[in-house]
Amino acid sequence: MTNSKLVQTATSILRKPGISKIAYELNGLLVTGTRYSMVAAAILDGRISCEAVSSFSTSKADSLAPLTKIGAKYDPDTNTMFFSSESYGSSNAYEQSVVLHEATHAMFDLYASCGDPGVLAINDESAAVLAQAHFFRLCAPNESMSIHRFSMQIDGPGETSLALVDKMMADTGDFVRNTDVYRLKPTQTEKLRTAVAQEWNLVRIVESDGVRDRSGILDVYDGVSGCCRR
Ligand SMILES: [Zn+2]
Repeated sequence: MTNSKLVQTATSILRKPGISKIAYELNGLLVTGTRYSMVAAAILDGRISCEAVSSFSTSKADSLAPLTKIGAKYDPDTNTMFFSSESYGSSNAYEQSVVLHEATHAMFDLYASCGDPGVLAINDESAAVLAQAHFFRLCAPNESMSIHRFSMQIDGPGETSLALVDKMMADTGDFVRNTDVYRLKPTQTEKLRTAVAQEWNLVRIVESDGVRDRSGILDVYDGVSGCCRR
């Protein structure tokens, strides 16, 4: 059952004027303001649900946004954005950026189709963290406490994504002079992807008893229309 307060919060965040300026492509993943407005529409008509839960399953800890171990997550199996309370994101800018992070995952699900092989988790999370960085620059530039919370880890996903969005804004005149989709080159996203790989443990580790390789983990999205519901 979708939570009407969270629906209101999420849709108002997705409809902030700054969100409409977002337009980038990261390793084949397209993130745009238009697509966020479609996510908002899907939330409003119930194809994507918003729910408050008292606890999260730890097995999906690696799908959470940085520093939000129990804050929020998007579950593609049930097309649901879960939040730790029904007031999540209603006033705190950091939480609002996390709502946008989860809405980015929801976007990839909304634009996926049945039989899609999935998205590399490292690209999925990098794109979602970069969306958070856009939120702070375009929608909450004066929220220094929240920006600090997002970026305090040196060379972490927050800091590297803010540096990347600053470069993108310098290149495009704050997304005003050039409104084309910003197609990120692999060299531009290398630092962010490295930070994300560390944060979400999406790495290949060689140990004495063998190799643990999480670098190729896929996040599976199969669309929200329900054509191949499990
Ligand atoms: Zn995520």
